[in-house]
Amino acid sequence: MATITAVEAFDIRFPTSRELDGSDAMNPDPDYSAAYVVLRTDGAEHGHGFAFTIGRGNDVCVAAINAHAPLVTGLDVAEVVGDLGGFARRLTHDSQLRWLGPEKGASHMAAAAIINAAFDLAGKVAGKPVWKLLADMTPDQIADLVDWRYLSDALTREEAVELLRAAEPGRAEREKRLMERGYPAYTTTPGWLGYDDEKLVRLAREAVAEGFTQIKLKVGADLGEDVRRMGLAREAVGPGVRIAVDANQRWDVPQAERWMAALAPYDPYWIEEPTSPDDVLGHAAIRRAVAPVKVATGEHVQNRVIFKQMLQAGSLDILQLDACRVGGVTENVAILLLAAKYGVPVCPHAGGVGLCEVVRHLSMFDYVAVSGTVEDRVIEYVDHLHQHFLDPVVIEGGHYVTPTAPGMSAEIRAETLTAYAYPEGSVWQ
Ligand SMILES: [Mg+2]
Repeated sequence: MATITAVEAFDIRFPTSRELDGSDAMNPDPDYSAAYVVLRTDGAEHGHGFAFTIGRGNDVCVAAINAHAPLVTGLDVAEVVGDLGGFARRLTHDSQLRWLGPEKGASHMAAAAIINAAFDLAGKVAGKPVWKLLADMTPDQIADLVDWRYLSDALTREEAVELLRAAEPGRAEREKRLMERGYPAYTTTPGWLGYDDEKLVRLAREAVAEGFTQIKLKVGADLGEDVRRMGLAREAVGPGVRIAVDANQRWDVPQAERWMAALAPYDPYWIEEPTSPDDVLGHAAIRRAVAPVKVATGEHVQNRVIFKQMLQAGSLDILQLDACRVGGVTENVAILLLAAKYGVPVCPHAGGVGLCEVVRHLSMFDYVAVSGTVEDRVIEYVDHLHQHFLDPVVIEGGHYVTPTAPGMSAEIRAETLTAYAYPEGSVWQ
């Protein structure tokens, strides 16, 4: 019987600010980073996970991972992978660590990194990619993953099980289609705010040529510039390609409404993070004002409770869950079930460090076993840092190729862990 012998945490940072990759209206100089965790065991398999941050503060997440280590070290691997919901609640219900959130911020992101590492371990033990591990569970086993506390006014466990049962007959057929076609993607690569016009137009044209049917532009720093760049992008891709815009929380509610009125002639598909991720009613007001442009948010929504309120208040057209911000796979299963109940498409946040690698498992599980559709659903894609992962994403014809390697694709190469360690790695000298 294998045991978790250690929880190892690493501060890994990539100097992306040097090329302005990842630059937006709120984050002009990100250094994409991972607070990376390895669940070391005395068995054949180990679990890998991470929290994504953008530089300063990554050490805070590493410290938060270390603070959770005593809850995990010494646990029996078979017991952990046999009750992943119970394992997650062991972390998020710890009364002393919970004081730092509850269920939000650095402590929750640290719990997410460890919970995702446990799913990675479970996938490896079972010999399955995590999307398949989840999609092979019975409706009751899936419901057992979820922390149902605070959800029953919007979704009960019984309703969720019913919803999952209704999707069961089509699972095999959808899994077959997933293996053949993969899952639709859109690209943010052309749209970083720090890129000049030539780079924006060139990358937008390349995206369409590669088969993407949606791109995304960062907006929110300067209205005149945004109108001009949006015009350039629309001209580059033509009328048939969707252009989403992303303000990264920059605006107040009235400002969002004015800004989107100015961009409307260029037919934006969605406005992402128009204002604070905590502002449930503000998002609802913006949504009423900017329709038929859709409102999307979620990458900074802290937990299932805020997502629940956003769905109840009609704040969202598109739900953008993040694999590493809320409490890992288990809380994201709750969010996928909520979205399915309210009929809201999930288009996950990705990019960053490894977010594309891990979040595809959640969308693919959703397609096979929860919502049962890819209509109006796309996973974000950004084409950097994939080379640092052992099981990197592959995009073909604007689709994520379905991963088949066991685990959650979170493992970073050993040489990267050495070179990009902060501050002692060679890249930072
Ligand atoms: Mg965004």
